[in-house]
Amino acid sequence: MRSNMLKRIDLSRDFEKHKQEYMDAIEAVCRETAFSGGRFADKFDSEFAAFCGVPYAAGVNNGTSALHCAMMALGIGAGDEVIVPANTFIATAWGVTYTGATPVFADCTADTWELDPDKIEEKITDRTKAILGVHLYGQPFEFNRVKAIADKYHLFVVEDCAQAHGARYEGKLVGGLGELGCFSFYPGKNLYAFGEGGSVTCYKKEYYDAITTIKNQGCQVRYYHDVIGYNYRLEGLQGAVLSVSLKYLPEWTARRREIGARYHSEITNPTITMQVHPENTEPVFHLFVITVKDPEDFVAYMRDRDIECHRHYPVPCHLQKAYADLGYREGDCPNAEYLASHCVTLPLFPEMTDEEAEMVIGACNAYC
Ligand SMILES: *Cc1c(COP(=O)(O)O)cnc(C)c1O
Repeated sequence: MRSNMLKRIDLSRDFEKHKQEYMDAIEAVCRETAFSGGRFADKFDSEFAAFCGVPYAAGVNNGTSALHCAMMALGIGAGDEVIVPANTFIATAWGVTYTGATPVFADCTADTWELDPDKIEEKITDRTKAILGVHLYGQPFEFNRVKAIADKYHLFVVEDCAQAHGARYEGKLVGGLGELGCFSFYPGKNLYAFGEGGSVTCYKKEYYDAITTIKNQGCQVRYYHDVIGYNYRLEGLQGAVLSVSLKYLPEWTARRREIGARYHSEITNPTITMQVHPENTEPVFHLFVITVKDPEDFVAYMRDRDIECHRHYPVPCHLQKAYADLGYREGDCPNAEYLASHCVTLPLFPEMTDEEAEMVIGACNAYC
């Protein structure tokens, strides 16, 4: 990569800015050797629960484990089906698959690119147990309509919040809308660890107890294993780092929204289509995705102008090789397929300067 290249996301700027605070937090964990779970991980759990406005948050080792724990806490397993949007990062579906249940992929809408409530009912069978919605790119999905369908068929709604820390739907924070909220703190997510991390949020103590047991080798009392468990604990170092970054998250979100708003109003090229954000939502702009006619050509064009773009995601879940045995075909989820073959992600991160945002806007508007 050229040294003057604007990266799609550059985490080193945050580290340089808050270096001393991060290093102090890491040192404190090392002094107490509180490496696995422990005081610093627990402290972050209570801070993150408060941030999400829920009574419980259970820190885990990554977002994929968070999704797996959520499915297990609901008792989902072999023979069950869970409805999942076709356009998401594949890990949304992994959590379902790990339990032995089957993800059933449903299409997104053509404009918000979020799970389409009109495409859910046709996927419901007598095996369906839950709808796992994703607040994709930081944009909340249409929760109330999804919830109404879930209530009609007695299904759980679970939120994949991996891209949406702090986003709001009708004024309410994500992670507290459904039965359980699943977060990732993978580097590059809106709130991120210096490594891997995740969390499951909920209102019900029974879910919290189930998840803290599952993630901790199946025990609440050491060496007494009540269920088959996993080693999914959050590391102390990650908890301490996350406590530092959580303080800055509101500031980062405000800056993401500022840049997102500028892209929306200042990118005026008619060949570029942007995500639609409904009035009743407050997105957090995890990824600024556009669609263009020829995404590979667009990415190369931007690279020539020292701007790095990625593509989220080039293959929809239902057409991934890993799920070939589920028997989906091209044409099953047309909106998700269109998005996959036309999407490009523009650089957007809190430490981006106004000049850099303007460079992205200028390049987009000059593209033909
Ligand atoms: C990142 C992500 C995950 C997985 O989180 P990890 O921490 O990488 O395991 C799940 N779902 C979505 C939508 C994501 O973006």
